[in-house]
Amino acid sequence: ATPTALLVGTGRGAQLGILIRGPEALESTRAIDTIVLDKTGTVTTGRMTLVDVVTDEDPARVLRLAGAVEHASEHPIARAIARKAGETLPAVTDFHNLEGRGVRGTVEGHAVLAGRASLFAGLPAGLEAAKAAAEAAGRTPVVVGWDGTARAVLVVSDTVKDTSAGAIADLRALGLTPVLLTGDHEAAARTVAAEVGITEVIAEVLPADKVDAIKRLQAGDQAVAMVGDGVNDAAALAQADLGLAMGTGTDVAIEAADLTLVRGDLRAAVDAIRLSRRTLAIIK
Ligand code: ADP
Ligand code: MG
Repeated sequence: ATPTALLVGTGRGAQLGILIRGPEALESTRAIDTIVLDKTGTVTTGRMTLVDVVTDEDPARVLRLAGAVEHASEHPIARAIARKAGETLPAVTDFHNLEGRGVRGTVEGHAVLAGRASLFAGLPAGLEAAKAAAEAAGRTPVVVGWDGTARAVLVVSDTVKDTSAGAIADLRALGLTPVLLTGDHEAAARTVAAEVGITEVIAEVLPADKVDAIKRLQAGDQAVAMVGDGVNDAAALAQADLGLAMGTGTDVAIEAADLTLVRGDLRAAVDAIRLSRRTLAIIK
């Protein structure tokens, strides 16, 4: 490649709020035809809010126990719950982050679990109904329980960034097929996808399996860009032909990516694809 053209691309990238890891980073974009977008924190703001607590227990106690365990996690869902639980929370011992599923820890002598329903052997009918209603509304239900029993459903809600739909329309106009990739359940994924104009959804993907989703698309002969923000996106960002990290995301994601979208705005992904095409046109 011609170093001058690449340097021009790198300088223009900085003006657009795109940090380019190295000169080779832009070269891979020439054949990109598929762009995989992580949902939480990428297409959505990732700033979640706790909107409902469904339980037969004392709701304040549920929040205290769940909040104490979630306080030790960085996940946007965890932050929403810990924020509502207040500032003076009991201590947690034996904390474990159950990647892509939830958290576990001991609080006030109880083994507390919070996360996906699959962490529990089963849900009582009332909680099963609350979970189904939350999913149907495109929200994320977090099941909370202790001592082996599910006892509450906390309903968490995220919002789509107001720039996402426009950016996705522009990516389509550039000839790219957008795909939504998430660990969240299918209905929540479909709701967000419909809001931003995405028809291809890969949901309920465990963090370790995100990279396989990228590999499968590549095996189908697609050149794949991936945009993500989380620790759970890092391997997929590295595997993609072009990895784009949200500058608002975790360091692990930024380190694994070719480009960083400094402002965490998907419109910069459109600029990145355009810029790389222009840079390559100069090289040729
Ligand atoms: P995404 O791919 O959308 O960024 P994750 O892979 O991080 O989502 O998480 C997948 C799912 O696992 C979440 O939708 C949630 O149900 C559950 N989960 C993960 N971490 C937590 C947590 N700290 N507390 C509760 N639930 C969690
Ligand atoms: Mg994410």
